[in-house]
Amino acid sequence: MNNQWVGDTVVKATKYVYFFGNKQTEGTKEMKQILGGKGANLADMASLGIPVPPGFTISTDACALYYENGKKLPATIEKEIDTHIVRLEKAMNAKLGDPKSTLLVSVRSGAAVSMPGMMDTVLNLGMSDAVATAIATKTKNERFAWDSYRRFLQMFGDVVLNVEHHEFEHALTTAKEKKKAKFDTDLTAADLKEVVAAYKQIIKKSTGKDFPQTAREQLRLAINAVFGSWNNDRAIAYRRLNDIKGLKGTAVNVQAMVFGNMGETSGTGVCFSRDPSTGENKFYGEYLMNAQGEDVVAGIRTPQPISTLEKQMPACYKELVAIYKRLEKHYRDMQDMEFTIQEGKLYMLQTRNGKRTAAAAVRTAVEMVAEKLITKEEAVLRVKPEQLDQLLHKRLDPKAKASAQVLAKGLPASPGAAVGKVVFDAHEAVRMVEEQKEKVVLCRTETSPEDLIGMNAAQGILTSRGGMTSHAAVVARGMGKPCVAGCSGAVINEKLKTLVVGGKTFKEGDFITLDGATGEVFGGKLAVIDPELGGEFGTLLSWADAFRTLKVRANADTGNDATVARGFGAQGIGLCRTEHMFFEGERIKAMREMILSKTPEQRAKALAKVLPFQRADFLAIFTSMNGLPVTIRLLDPPLHEFLPHEEAEQKNMAKELGVSLDAVKTRIAELSEVNPMLGLRGCRLGIAIPEITAMQTRAIIEAAIDARAKKIDAIPEIMIPLVGNVAELAHQKKIVVDTATAVIAERKATLSYSVGTMIEVPRAALTADEVAREADFFSFGTNDLTQMTLGFSRDDVGKFVPDYVKQGLLEKDPFQSLDQTGVGQLVTMAAQKGRSVKPKLKLGVCGEHGGDPASIDFFHRAGLDYVSCSPYRVPIARLAAAHAAIKAKNASAKSSATKPAVKKGKK
Ligand code: PEP
Ligand code: MG
Repeated sequence: MNNQWVGDTVVKATKYVYFFGNKQTEGTKEMKQILGGKGANLADMASLGIPVPPGFTISTDACALYYENGKKLPATIEKEIDTHIVRLEKAMNAKLGDPKSTLLVSVRSGAAVSMPGMMDTVLNLGMSDAVATAIATKTKNERFAWDSYRRFLQMFGDVVLNVEHHEFEHALTTAKEKKKAKFDTDLTAADLKEVVAAYKQIIKKSTGKDFPQTAREQLRLAINAVFGSWNNDRAIAYRRLNDIKGLKGTAVNVQAMVFGNMGETSGTGVCFSRDPSTGENKFYGEYLMNAQGEDVVAGIRTPQPISTLEKQMPACYKELVAIYKRLEKHYRDMQDMEFTIQEGKLYMLQTRNGKRTAAAAVRTAVEMVAEKLITKEEAVLRVKPEQLDQLLHKRLDPKAKASAQVLAKGLPASPGAAVGKVVFDAHEAVRMVEEQKEKVVLCRTETSPEDLIGMNAAQGILTSRGGMTSHAAVVARGMGKPCVAGCSGAVINEKLKTLVVGGKTFKEGDFITLDGATGEVFGGKLAVIDPELGGEFGTLLSWADAFRTLKVRANADTGNDATVARGFGAQGIGLCRTEHMFFEGERIKAMREMILSKTPEQRAKALAKVLPFQRADFLAIFTSMNGLPVTIRLLDPPLHEFLPHEEAEQKNMAKELGVSLDAVKTRIAELSEVNPMLGLRGCRLGIAIPEITAMQTRAIIEAAIDARAKKIDAIPEIMIPLVGNVAELAHQKKIVVDTATAVIAERKATLSYSVGTMIEVPRAALTADEVAREADFFSFGTNDLTQMTLGFSRDDVGKFVPDYVKQGLLEKDPFQSLDQTGVGQLVTMAAQKGRSVKPKLKLGVCGEHGGDPASIDFFHRAGLDYVSCSPYRVPIARLAAAHAAIKAKNASAKSSATKPAVKKGKK
């Protein structure tokens, strides 16, 4: 039983340690929350009869208690651990710390959600001087004994005793240099004995104490360190970046060691049941003979592809293939596995659902449906909407690539094109991106979890060492960042800040380009092109479309953007911001002339110049969106945004318009506002200058009639912004309807159109029943609604919101993901009030939140008809809308299943 609430008190779990190993296994795969993903799957594999070295898992409840108890495990749990050590010793017929028959263990972290490489691990625990000597005699493999001991000292020193990692590295490098050894494996037993002595010295110097020689004490310290690593900086950053919340902590797995470093019939590796980069259904992975796990991941030696194991150890390979196939079927998902071969015998150390690129996620999901492994619903749920962003990323323009010189080729670790300035340090990468708004490529000999923030900030990552499962490769794939790993032709010197590749030297700030799909490295900036969607991506999205009920529209201001949006599956335009059309060339002149006009006649003349531009733009959008609705919003921003701020430009403008500089300056002063966001903007502009509303309406209606004349089905929806009071809407609507009626009559045409409003001022939401009487539709402008509900200036949030998020005062930036408890209430209320007056009132959202999956889930539950987002987010929104619909359906099926059945009485 685990911690649970009973009334007001927490009843503590009564069991904190779970054994695993063939018949005695206590855990199951369903117990991830308690045993962590690694522990639950080890128990599961053991139950399936797959060769897993036995061990025990200390639960995540124990981790929670460790923290509650001032970073110390209560004595009762220590006792439970003692009992399980005895169980493990019996199962292994060996004793922890006993030189006569030694049991060595690994101590590994494992939370309910996998956080690769973020927490700590200790291998070979139980080693001491006496044990190493005994193992050397017993195995007749002295080198193995001392190699295992020195690895243990290094890991334990680093992870548990906080000794600087580089001190050990330095001692090892010195030993290698002395012996002229190229690899660690070239060191002899005698050399390694010297390294052990040096390591012990380092530990004594750094901690002031001798290295603990008692195994139980080593274990106690290691378990505490692993629990402690739950809250190290890397783990906290990883959880924040991946939005992992609500976990109790990590579990700790203590497992009998098996050795991949026992000689040439031993080895260790990492493998995937499908290619995690492309999703291709082929066995994929790499391994190293005579090595321990960390050698593969750390990229110290370059590993061999898994296919060569077939020749090297055919029996093991055959067994491994059978196991991976079985595990994939069992978990019905692509597996990421770790294995070790000890003197010809295969052991599985881990299996979990593999992290994969978006391309691989889509391909495996679609192919697994064809293989009848999963349903379409499961396939749709398997791909995270945000992940699709990777597929929508750019790739190198083949033409530019064809004429560019490849400087070097590394491993194609994560696809996509990255163009940016070379940077050699993670913090500097963050600084260049945040402060100088640069695009950077992070170049490192190899990466470690400390580089996470820099990798996140960079366009792409280049490493000169490591394989496809090295830290850089695994993390970059998870982030969807292009990555070229293990590029041995690139010499990266972090100290000198130079990258020497293909005979060229790049300093910090010089541009390079990476092709993560091929592993190629180029100098300078290469052209990139947009992705095309099709194949499995199209299939998955078509399945998603069948599940979703929310429609997805796009925010687009030009015919081109509308065409892109339609290509991505947009079902209309949810927001066309007309002001964006005013900034180009001649248009801005006409607009400025209108703003400077003194008389209605002057103003009418200036607006007449703007009208044809607007009409042509609207026609282009109607053409792209033939047959689909197009919501056009009337002018919104304060007029001063159209006037120049620099004196030189003001002079220019005065000259162009034939007015004095003073006249320009006076008008700018008149329009200046203390708080423009709450000033003369939105419908207030149309109320102050009704001719603008009339001109825009005329342009929309004329464009729609012109379109219809060309057999284009234009469906205009005219939207009034920033309404807070129904009277404002009624005022503007009258101008729109009067103008439209006049134009339709002039042109002797027929046209239907609708007039609606944005709900972006809190008062409009509060009085939505009144507003609805005048509106054919509502579109929630959640950008302004967030600004005005939270009282956070949209333009200044960068100064304090990141800090709020860091300090935990806000979960997320409310301008990126809807504040569901606050702003969300206004959305729900306005939807209900609006529909109480007009049951069929069309409801949409056009703020940035329309492309955010968590917000989309909310909008689905609030009963909206559509979301509207930027063209490139349309596929993400389509998938997110499907997730929302499936989740809601499954939740309601679950709740009706748990409701007590009502007995029907006989009539
Ligand atoms: C909004 O406020 O949400 C909106 C879409 O309008 P804008 O961002 O143009 O103010
Ligand atoms: Mg707005």
